[in-house]
Amino acid sequence: MAEEEQQPVFADALFRQKRKHGKFRLVEPPRIAGPVVDTHAHVHLLADPALEFARCAAWGVGFVCDIVDVQEDAPDVFERIDDWHAQAQSRLPEAVERTREVLAAGGDELTHLPDGADAACFALPDDAASRSLPRLRLAAGVHPHNARFYDDAMESRLVNRLADPRICAVGEIGLDYHYDLSPREDQRRAFRRQIRLAHTTGLPAALHVREAHDEAFAILREEGFPEAGTLLHCFDLDWETLEPWVDRGCFVALGGALTFKRCQDTRDAVARTPRNLLLTETDSPYMTPEPMRGMPCGPAHTVFTAACMAEVLGCETEKARSQMLAQIAQNARALLDRPPTAWQIEHAQTAATERNCE
Ligand SMILES: [Zn+2]
Repeated sequence: MAEEEQQPVFADALFRQKRKHGKFRLVEPPRIAGPVVDTHAHVHLLADPALEFARCAAWGVGFVCDIVDVQEDAPDVFERIDDWHAQAQSRLPEAVERTREVLAAGGDELTHLPDGADAACFALPDDAASRSLPRLRLAAGVHPHNARFYDDAMESRLVNRLADPRICAVGEIGLDYHYDLSPREDQRRAFRRQIRLAHTTGLPAALHVREAHDEAFAILREEGFPEAGTLLHCFDLDWETLEPWVDRGCFVALGGALTFKRCQDTRDAVARTPRNLLLTETDSPYMTPEPMRGMPCGPAHTVFTAACMAEVLGCETEKARSQMLAQIAQNARALLDRPPTAWQIEHAQTAATERNCE
């Protein structure tokens, strides 16, 4: 984190790769026509969330789900996120203008360009400044890392949040046996209780599972898979691991890992997954896709993962790519951009009052 904070914040919409000695090089954006969705981002953790939303608009990322942890994240994130999103409207023309300036400037600014590259390759789409902001939804939960803090008081804070009609999922919740930052017994308990909340609230569950897929699946089978849907976030394993989830109709969200060299098994698994279960995401500020690794990840980086997915799925023509992206956007909207649940409608008012008293 400390290293990320030292990096300069660029006010444009260009994609940069970190080079040695504090230098940066521009990265050519993929040419993908179609709506792109980021179903898992922590935009509130980035240095300039409003600029990140503006960049999403510029590059055609039309949907963002921001994932908030009620234990770890500041409670005012739920208020500030709407302000950042609103500010993005005025930041967009600025970011587009600044991008044009950088590309037109020549001289020092263009030392960012790879040798012999044409500035036009890095340019934004012509209509970038007039594109609409991404649709924003939120998810709230207690991450398995924080499961040891999960008690009745924490749960009632979470329940009050879930009644907010902007919330579209309980998450991220699950088991992380890689880091084991909370005792496994606590992780299992917090996971079960939050699956029950998904049932009560009628919301889908967004899962974070690491080195614990069999156990997470068994717990879900015991508690029942949420009727509104289950999303397996940040998948980076093989088909053997994925198959039972897909058989259960769970959605699988692919982020930066899809682009990593080591993840050929994941690309093979994606190629076998029914398209109506696929989603794209970032997990920003983490999991930066190739070729921007080393830079903080923003939700606009989803375009690189989406381009990679198009390749994995063999979408060679522009038409095939845009149909595939439309399918994924449709999956995201159906799962995460639904009207408030009956439970949310019933509890919105009391929960808002209780939140104000917190
Ligand atoms: Zn996450």
